[in-house]
Amino acid sequence: MQACTLVARAKINLYLEILGSRPDGYSEVAMILQSIALADRVRLQRRPHGIHLICNHPEVPADARNLAYRAAELLQKECQTNLGVEIHIEKQIPVAAGLAGGSADAAAVLVGLNQLWGLGLTVRELQHLAARLGSDIPFCVQGGTQLATGRGEVLQPLADWEGIPLLLAKPKRLGISTAWAYQAFRAHRAASLPSAGSSLSTLPQVLAALERRDLLALARSLRNDLEQPVLAEYAIVGKLRQALLEVGALGSLMSGSGPTVFGLMASLEGAAQACESLRRRFPEVDFWVTQFAPTGILLEPDPHPLDPPRIAS
Ligand code: ATP
Repeated sequence: MQACTLVARAKINLYLEILGSRPDGYSEVAMILQSIALADRVRLQRRPHGIHLICNHPEVPADARNLAYRAAELLQKECQTNLGVEIHIEKQIPVAAGLAGGSADAAAVLVGLNQLWGLGLTVRELQHLAARLGSDIPFCVQGGTQLATGRGEVLQPLADWEGIPLLLAKPKRLGISTAWAYQAFRAHRAASLPSAGSSLSTLPQVLAALERRDLLALARSLRNDLEQPVLAEYAIVGKLRQALLEVGALGSLMSGSGPTVFGLMASLEGAAQACESLRRRFPEVDFWVTQFAPTGILLEPDPHPLDPPRIAS
């Protein structure tokens, strides 16, 4: 295989509970992560050597700061290969939005290069490498619906629940760094603010709701401990959560470290109508209608295995 294209899906957090601090500086968490249809496209072209990355988003670095670049570099080193790759990333997932866009791209490179370079690594081995690059990347390798513990890398797949409609909202000019959100959480907890995630775990309720496919029960038990600290700084996040409920969301929550907020919707038509009215009300906010997806990375069948040479007419 000379080239392949991968669909690299974003995720939302249906549940994010912070259990404590770890000696390695990370937080101990319990999360339920859900792949969604909103996705980047990552095209990989085999090269004799070197890593070259091109991305259509001006704010995303195209060098070794890019997680996708680092994924290729890690595979080269760990599998002791000099083979190279050209990586084209077409961003659709908003950047620094709490949707794991960079992590999805890195997972796509791990999955794609495993094929392209003929490395023969198992999913477990890919996830093991992924954990060295970032906490959300092991989840993105497989995706679907998973319970993630530890710092997010200990995964337990849950039954898939495909097609649940979602409405996403993200303020256009606001990006939030994950490190900042966790710091804000710690500051709240140090000040013993009631918002600092001290309430009883609702994890059993979320797991039961997923098991029973009870959307209303799921909507009632959503939780994100990072939400209140982020909301205290960025009021727009709370406003959007409320606005989603007003247009019919069964439940709404900030995803990951934010600022994206999602609403669980009863139907795709309802989500599309709500989206139109919210676009008029909040012109400074981006909205997407999307849905739960059963996998993280999808290898697209390549219609043009080798681009045919252009013949001048
Ligand atoms: P998470 O939900 O995993 O915390 P996020 O969705 O909040 O992540 P990303 O979109 O992954 O955040 O981007 C975070 C930062 O990572 C950006 O500021 C960007 O500069 C950098 N970055 C590195 N590689 C990528 C990539 N492939 N796509 C997007 N951002 C990337």
